[in-house]
Amino acid sequence: NEALLLQLEVTRYGQNEALVIVRDITRLRNLEQMRRDFVANVSHELRTPLTVITGYLETLQGSDVAPPPWQRPLAQMEEQAARMAALVNDLLLLARLETSECKIGDVPVDVSELIGRVAREARSFSGGRHKVLVQCETDSRIRGDAGELHSAFANLVLNAVKYSPAGGTIQLRWWQDRRGGHFSVQDQGIGIDPVHIPRLTERFYRVDPGRSRGSGGTGLGLAIVKHVLLRHCGEMSIESTPAQGSTFTLHFPEHKLTAKPVPTPKASE
Ligand code: ADP
Repeated sequence: NEALLLQLEVTRYGQNEALVIVRDITRLRNLEQMRRDFVANVSHELRTPLTVITGYLETLQGSDVAPPPWQRPLAQMEEQAARMAALVNDLLLLARLETSECKIGDVPVDVSELIGRVAREARSFSGGRHKVLVQCETDSRIRGDAGELHSAFANLVLNAVKYSPAGGTIQLRWWQDRRGGHFSVQDQGIGIDPVHIPRLTERFYRVDPGRSRGSGGTGLGLAIVKHVLLRHCGEMSIESTPAQGSTFTLHFPEHKLTAKPVPTPKASE
């Protein structure tokens, strides 16, 4: 009863001949769907127990119930519970983004406001150890989902902080040209060896797993960025030089952008 999913591959030979390969990928699609549902269900089920654990840990910390020698282990438990919560949230978000049926918002999202917000978040995350500069060349809006676009922009900006030494400058830039709108995040951080670049958007792919975990990363950030872009017809390019820094750029096509409306003049009294 179920619809078949066929994949066609056509190779032309000369003027009049072609080789057509038809593959039945129904089973593969179903397995993918099962994997996504499983991950989404597990993540969802883990949320409630985690909230309870975090709640009790917060209460115990700093209270008289737990004697002083317990305060350090309690703080560590709370930190690990927070890491787990971040992972569960990212897994749920990714499962939602991967479901093509999942509805995407279609509202004009103010780019300068969004960049201002992620810059403030980056400054607070860095604790003043980095300089975060913003350059917005046009007042634009991207038509799409405000929450998803925030996740994509924030992941890039927080990565720039995580993978840069203190004292580094992080430059955020938005500009428009005939190809569309572009958001770039440039850092003066550790950089990435070119061999890793094609695999960075795979789930849990990390250049240096120890460093990434230590800085609170879930290993899902760039996979989330990739899926948000797919849903907004966008693309990402990465340029990097080890020990010098990286630039991650998101490109949005013209048809996803709307100009900021000109404010209507106030009626004269
Ligand atoms: P993570 O949670 O590990 O940061 P991401 O998916 O966001 O996961 O990134 C994948 C990997 O790409 C990181 O572990 C890191 O090795 C590398 N990476 C991402 N952003 C940068 C950056 N700005 N500078 C250097 N390496 C980066």
